[in-house]
Amino acid sequence: MSGFRQRTISREATLDGVGVHCGEPASVTFRGANPGTGVVFRRIDIEGAPEIPATVAQVVDTDRGTTLGAGGVTVRTVEHALAAVLALEIDNLVISVAGAEVPIRDGSFADFLAALEGAGPVEQEADALVLCLSEPLAFDGPSHQSYALTPAAGLAVSATIDFEHELIGRQSISVAIDAQTFRKSVAPARTFGFQADAEVLRARGLALGASLDNTVVLSEGGIMNDGLRFEDEFVRHKIGDLLGDLALLGARVQAHIVAERPSHTGNVALVRLLATHLR
Ligand SMILES: [Zn+2]
Repeated sequence: MSGFRQRTISREATLDGVGVHCGEPASVTFRGANPGTGVVFRRIDIEGAPEIPATVAQVVDTDRGTTLGAGGVTVRTVEHALAAVLALEIDNLVISVAGAEVPIRDGSFADFLAALEGAGPVEQEADALVLCLSEPLAFDGPSHQSYALTPAAGLAVSATIDFEHELIGRQSISVAIDAQTFRKSVAPARTFGFQADAEVLRARGLALGASLDNTVVLSEGGIMNDGLRFEDEFVRHKIGDLLGDLALLGARVQAHIVAERPSHTGNVALVRLLATHLR
């Protein structure tokens, strides 16, 4: 008995667009699901519409985004949609994807949040699974990330990033995560990349759909876009990415997470560790 009810959505919502890595058209449709379903992706462009559960066990890649896979079928860049799912405490959802990747939209979390909020989140007749830490937990990721968790009544994230670019440098922010603060403080923050990396990424088949419409692009000493949505938009986006990866736990989390240099690789390793505390 957690005291929290499971939640789903009461109507469908669809978003289309382009995949930031594959550069191909893609769409997602969110549909409600029965209690106990969890969050499940379906590749509806493939015969039989194979399912890929949105759980940490299905993570197959964390380079420049989080990719899930099952039975050789993958879905890429799941984290922005899943961050909105987590912020709205939606436990049961079917996300049908027509394409290999969730569309990037404007590079932020905002469209996913608006679509799901517009789809009428509702409580269901079942208790939600909640991870409550009984004691602090510290975890160092595989490449200079570190995470420290302390027990808390709700979910809060403090993050620090450090990039050698004069517009970023060292940025820190703490956010108590509920739908309202996520909408205001995190959801509008866009993904970012360095112009200097673009050629190498494209040669590797990544960032083929990236543009100034969906990515803050940092050039030497500035950005190529018209402006930033927050002075510290970069660290705010990293908090959203962390939340999207945290959704792969499949349970609500009650903890204060302090993250230094979070990355998808570190986030997913953290969630794998947290999953062992669920049993
Ligand atoms: Zn992101």
